[in-house]
Amino acid sequence: MKPQNSENFGSRKSKDFLGTKESKETLNPELYKILACPVCKSDVKYTSDMKALKCVKCSKTYPIRDGIPVMMA
Ligand SMILES: [Zn+2]
Repeated sequence: MKPQNSENFGSRKSKDFLGTKESKETLNPELYKILACPVCKSDVKYTSDMKALKCVKCSKTYPIRDGIPVMMA
């Protein structure tokens, strides 16, 4: 008798989809740690609504689109 894999594959696929969706909400923590303001090279922090990054020094804000910060000087 051969094992039937199709059911197992289906559940794994839906789990991957949920993980991808979740990671789009906020920035990758590793990326957030290394980010710096392109203007003055200072640290950037999340704004209160978590939808953008704000430089601690020059207060310039950078929007986050699909989990990727748009950092143009
Ligand atoms: Zn700055």
